Amino acid sequence: MKALLLEEINGPLLLKDLPTPEPGPGEVLLRVKACAVDQFDLKIRSGKVPHARPPIILGHEIAGEVAALGPGVTTWTVGQRVTSTLYLTCGRCRKCQIGRETICENFVGYLGIQTPGGYAEYTTVPELNLVELPESIPFSQGAILANAIGTPLHAFTKRMRLQPGERIIITGAGGGVGLHAIQLACMMGAMVMAVDLGPAKLKAARENGADLAVDPTEQNVADVARDWTGGQGVEAILELTGAATIPTNLEALGKGGRMVIVGFHTGSEFSVQASQMVANEWEILGSRNVTKRELAEVVALVQAGRINPVISGVHRLEEAEAIHARLGRQEISGRVVLEI
Ligand SMILES: [Zn+2]
Repeated sequence: MKALLLEEINGPLLLKDLPTPEPGPGEVLLRVKACAVDQFDLKIRSGKVPHARPPIILGHEIAGEVAALGPGVTTWTVGQRVTSTLYLTCGRCRKCQIGRETICENFVGYLGIQTPGGYAEYTTVPELNLVELPESIPFSQGAILANAIGTPLHAFTKRMRLQPGERIIITGAGGGVGLHAIQLACMMGAMVMAVDLGPAKLKAARENGADLAVDPTEQNVADVARDWTGGQGVEAILELTGAATIPTNLEALGKGGRMVIVGFHTGSEFSVQASQMVANEWEILGSRNVTKRELAEVVALVQAGRINPVISGVHRLEEAEAIHARLGRQEISGRVVLEI
């Protein structure tokens, strides 16, 4: 099979002809049709993901067709269209049993790190991870459902409990996850203040429903938020960026506010006064990716046209290197997908 192989940290993505993998017990062989490109792929290449050691086939956002079944697989048939969650989980522990598999007690890792990923014609995926993809959703969209749409769905519904009429700040709003977070927040009846860098990302944020869009290098986010809310502060913050934006955001968080942290690209340490937490009854929560059940909910929302997957480009596998370079220069808003 054709595959892109990363043989060393900071090395190139090499187009190789490799043996097609055999699905093990509980796994299916997928004919990969589409695989999304994520900033996390760049992090792996640069050696910043400690447990990711080359040689690796990258790609953890995968949609495709079931091509063969491993021993014991009975829930899928060859030819079915599927999309997949990203995490390798045990399916048996207490957390997995209650539908919180993103915090599996026996967490194994990620597709595209602990297993060969989707920058290839074929890959193997545990049957546990798969959700059926209807004919009406193209594979290119199918590839981005779990990470780019499922991540904010989980954050809003299970962690933040976002309510109609609430006002929310979304940082990193012009990125692949951010644009879908805006759409979801609007669908749930919230008003959105989008925060990101540069006119292209702010324009994309407005086009996806943001009520206002702010560049923190041009305006003080907390001042704008206070004005926007008549001095009250916002009810919610979705933090997709990391520690760099948290202190300013907390100045904008009103009484009873909830901040849900999803991203930590810009660092993970911040401080907060315990007295402020108490006086304001703040909730500061973490949120991790998406469960399989929520991925099925995302499929339903996209199928019904309630959420519109934003894909800024579809490219061939051979173009991955050029796409990574553009992503590294922050030139891409929304998700880019490789069709294979
Ligand atoms: Zn588990």
